Amino acid sequence: MKTIFLDQPGQFRLTETQEPAGFASDEALVRVRRIGICGTDLKAFEGKMPFIEYPRILGHELGVEIVEVGPNDRGLKAGDLVSIEPYLNCGTCIACRRGKANCCTSLKVLGVHTDGGMREFITVPVHKLHKSEKLTIDQLALVETLVIGAHAVRRAQPDPGEFLLVIGAGPIGLTVIEAAKASGAEIIVMDINQDRLNFAQQQLGVEHAVNVANNPVEHLMEMTSGDMPTQVYDATGNLQSMNRSFDYLAAGGKLVFVGLVKDDVTFHDPEFHRREMTVMSSRNGTSDDFRWVIDKVESGAIDTRPWITHRAPFEQMIEQFPGWLDPANRVIKAVVEL
Ligand SMILES: [Zn+2]
Ligand SMILES: [Zn+2]
Repeated sequence: MKTIFLDQPGQFRLTETQEPAGFASDEALVRVRRIGICGTDLKAFEGKMPFIEYPRILGHELGVEIVEVGPNDRGLKAGDLVSIEPYLNCGTCIACRRGKANCCTSLKVLGVHTDGGMREFITVPVHKLHKSEKLTIDQLALVETLVIGAHAVRRAQPDPGEFLLVIGAGPIGLTVIEAAKASGAEIIVMDINQDRLNFAQQQLGVEHAVNVANNPVEHLMEMTSGDMPTQVYDATGNLQSMNRSFDYLAAGGKLVFVGLVKDDVTFHDPEFHRREMTVMSSRNGTSDDFRWVIDKVESGAIDTRPWITHRAPFEQMIEQFPGWLDPANRVIKAVVEL
């Protein structure tokens, strides 16, 4: 079967490998039809992912078709189109026992820590398959990315009408916006890049935008009648931005770090205490988040139309991939078709 390896940073290789010989009783054999490309894949290509081993088969945002599955209580059968939850968890650690498989202490993400979906067939645990009879195969490949924002928003549980600030209008921030829209919160988007702000406003319908280069605190005060946002989500993964995000929050509010930085985030304790802030991190998502996103896309509460900006057939991915790294091409989501 056709397979693409990332042999080392900057070097993909399209080759033939053996099809899976069989699968365990709790697994299914699936045919990969769509692969979404995200920041993790781009970083792996650039050699900026600290924990990735080469060679690696990337691909964790997957829309697939079931080829063969044994008896199961999920109603899954050959021919079904499903989204894959790529977070392979142990099932026994403290996080798994408490229903937080997304932060399993020995979590392995398919296509990051183990070989993923840049190949024609893979085997996957049946309980990691999420079916929809309404979503297209493109939409099924977008579910994992939308889950990132959904998990963050579902942790912080905004109320309708409350002011919610999303810092960083890149793909991760846009997933937060999509989930926040479904909650009915009043969304403000912040970025330093005016193109990204325009995209969030014009394509995702966000009402308020603030350019961080232009007196952000003053503007947030104005927009919120002096209150400031009661929820702030940082989706930049930028240390300076994460440190500053404490300043944007209303008293009693919640600050959620969706983006991740390999550094120490610091804050001034009196400011933290004065507001009696809640600070949360958000990592991956749970099976419930996958169902939630699928429901929202099925009902139309999440509109996926603006999402896929670039496409390539599997055989042309290696040629096209470097272009997806170029900010000038304004990639939101590139999808590989098989
Ligand atoms: Zn991803
Ligand atoms: Zn575990």
